[in-house]
Amino acid sequence: MTEAKLSHALKRSCPYCGETPLMETWFKLAEGCPKCSIRYARDEAHYSGASQMVAFPVASVLGLLEGALIWYFFKLDILLVAMLACVSMVLFIVLFWPFALGIWTWFEHYMQPAIVGSEEPSQF
Ligand SMILES: [Zn+2]
Repeated sequence: MTEAKLSHALKRSCPYCGETPLMETWFKLAEGCPKCSIRYARDEAHYSGASQMVAFPVASVLGLLEGALIWYFFKLDILLVAMLACVSMVLFIVLFWPFALGIWTWFEHYMQPAIVGSEEPSQF
């Protein structure tokens, strides 16, 4: 059985073979990998997992760190610092989104591996 690899998912390709694109668009996951005959998202909650378990926590930590550094070094008003941190967190989530989906897809397939070639290609 082939194991899902994080390095493939971070390159935004199939976590098993690393050849088929993981993303259909910047924001949308492809249905699956025709080469491996697997579906990337196994349920409707896949996007929720990527946002709540990967993108939001990473953006929150980085935004908090950014805010603390700006406040410490530039001594700006705390509301301005909070606004700057919020804007950069939103931008970060947009730029990080395909990687968050890749990390979450890898995690789901790593924790519960698909049997490559077991799903009917007609499913996607
Ligand atoms: Zn594949």
